[in-house]
Amino acid sequence: MTEKFAEPIYVTRPIMPDLERVTEKLKEVWESQWLSNGGAQHKALEEQVRLFLKAPHLSLFNNGTIALMVAVQSLRLQGEVITTPFTFPATTHVLAWNNITPVFCDIHPETLTIDPHKIESLITNRTTAILGVHVYGMPCHVERIQEIADRHGLRVIYDAAHAFGTEINGRGIGTYGDISMFSFHPTKLFHTAEGGALTYNDPNLKQRIDLLKNFGIRNEFEVLLPGINGKMNELSAVIGLIVLDMVKDEWVRRQAIRDQYTRELGGLPGIKIVQMPQGVTNSQQYMVIRIDGKEFGATRDEVYAHLRKYNVHARKYFYPLTSDYPCYHQLPSAHDGSLANAKQSSDEVLCLPFYGQLKADEVSQICSLIKAVSEK
Ligand SMILES: *Cc1c(COP(=O)(O)O)cnc(C)c1O
Repeated sequence: MTEKFAEPIYVTRPIMPDLERVTEKLKEVWESQWLSNGGAQHKALEEQVRLFLKAPHLSLFNNGTIALMVAVQSLRLQGEVITTPFTFPATTHVLAWNNITPVFCDIHPETLTIDPHKIESLITNRTTAILGVHVYGMPCHVERIQEIADRHGLRVIYDAAHAFGTEINGRGIGTYGDISMFSFHPTKLFHTAEGGALTYNDPNLKQRIDLLKNFGIRNEFEVLLPGINGKMNELSAVIGLIVLDMVKDEWVRRQAIRDQYTRELGGLPGIKIVQMPQGVTNSQQYMVIRIDGKEFGATRDEVYAHLRKYNVHARKYFYPLTSDYPCYHQLPSAHDGSLANAKQSSDEVLCLPFYGQLKADEVSQICSLIKAVSEK
């Protein structure tokens, strides 16, 4: 009989860098008396993360949302942008903050990313870009999306917040499209306490993006663009340098936990484990199952509530859809009934606790709790 966990089991826990290593490295920062504006730690981290992601160019930011804001600004997007509603609020909000109308496109039922079959019918003479999300680190249909964009003269931006380390046949996910955004929030596999980055292939973008994240300041006497404050500080960069060293081990532990969940839940009727396609390196951001209520004998919401009763905080990422928020619900693309796959996925997905320190017997207990719901 499974008992209620004494301490809450959260969906994730951040990698905690060794405090002594942090203190040691902070001494360098203190000696330099340089806390932000592209210091030595920032410079080192920018290069190391760029190499890790196999990206030709990278700019660090104070968080992923501001990074995405700057990505949109740097490409001078306006009018309408076609995007997915199956995502974290920031993806859609960034368009609204740029006075752009989000046009919601349904997702593919298998990959849960924006469905390339449904993009073209949403293009109008106001469309300037496609904003896809590699949700759970699952790559968008990048080749198909690029073909569509090229045919219609559109830009492509990816929200790769979940995709740190995702690769397609060894190619870094951040090398697709015009610009990709990564988040380094503590809930993400790699983090800098708060932080983010943009990756891009066009070397000419570097100057523009780096101006935009620093108020558009070129030098003491010249301000060229209406920029914002998107700079990562030296303390975050220090955390990032140490956490980056720990990412590989965390990845390996998470893979083992994924294997255990898959063994214990994989065969259950009505439970489907969201898996990466052939050739894709999993970013190990989330452990996602889909629950078919009829076949399983209990709905996603019933499983969620049962786990919560036992102090297990699984999360309904992503419910509700961003198109159902009151601020977007009035948009034509939000309520014309064409988001059927997104709605169904949003009702069926559940992210289970998934982090390196999670113990094998805890995973077993969580799986027993899930099984118990259907047997009630
Ligand atoms: C975490 C996340 C963001 C926001 O990143 P921050 O660094 O917290 O600003 C954006 N999009 C998605 C899909 C995310 O999961």
